[in-house]
Amino acid sequence: MSRLLIAEDESRIAAFIEKGLKANGLLTTVVTNAHEAMLLAQSGEFDLLILDLGLPDQDGLTVLETLRGQGERLPIIVLTARDDIHAKVAGLEGGADDYVTKPFRFEELLARVRVQLRNRQAPSSKEDMVLTIGKVSLNLRTREVQVGNRPIELSAREFILAETFLRYPGQVMSREQLLNHVWGYEYDPGSNIVDVYVGYLRKKLGNDLIETVRGMGYRLRT
Ligand code: CA
Repeated sequence: MSRLLIAEDESRIAAFIEKGLKANGLLTTVVTNAHEAMLLAQSGEFDLLILDLGLPDQDGLTVLETLRGQGERLPIIVLTARDDIHAKVAGLEGGADDYVTKPFRFEELLARVRVQLRNRQAPSSKEDMVLTIGKVSLNLRTREVQVGNRPIELSAREFILAETFLRYPGQVMSREQLLNHVWGYEYDPGSNIVDVYVGYLRKKLGNDLIETVRGMGYRLRT
């Protein structure tokens, strides 16, 4: 699961963003000032920072410039109420990866978040395109799946679910997180589709690959 840091002092906006991101299977942490944003952005715990420019203790642009000045490469999406082009240009030149002007629709922010997370996960070399755990390997480019040297056919959903497990080996993922991540809004939370598909993956990739963590969800054995 991707972890997002949100630096926004207006609780209404922070809650709006957080609720939407959580519903889309992302993990979120909200901070309300520049000091905490700076500390947590450098913790290595996050995949993306959503940074409001108007923070109470320090201007968001200063946060941005300081982080980049220190060599921090965390993707940053700037939120700005200043919709004049000068602020935007300054924001981007200060090292933001993208910006969203308030007021914005959640879908617009989500689309930009997804682009940044995809860029971050984009494989940088050929080796990175193959995820391997034990005997199972997934080629993210060709979508070929192998167990040992045996090719396996997975449906598109099965592939995404398998990829999610292989990206986070050993980490417990709840049904809700998996549902949001793989199926999005198409199924209601009461659906047992996750359990059904975990069953499919066990059949195709090996019975002991994914373990059930009682009351919590599933985990890929490492
Ligand atoms: Ca603000």
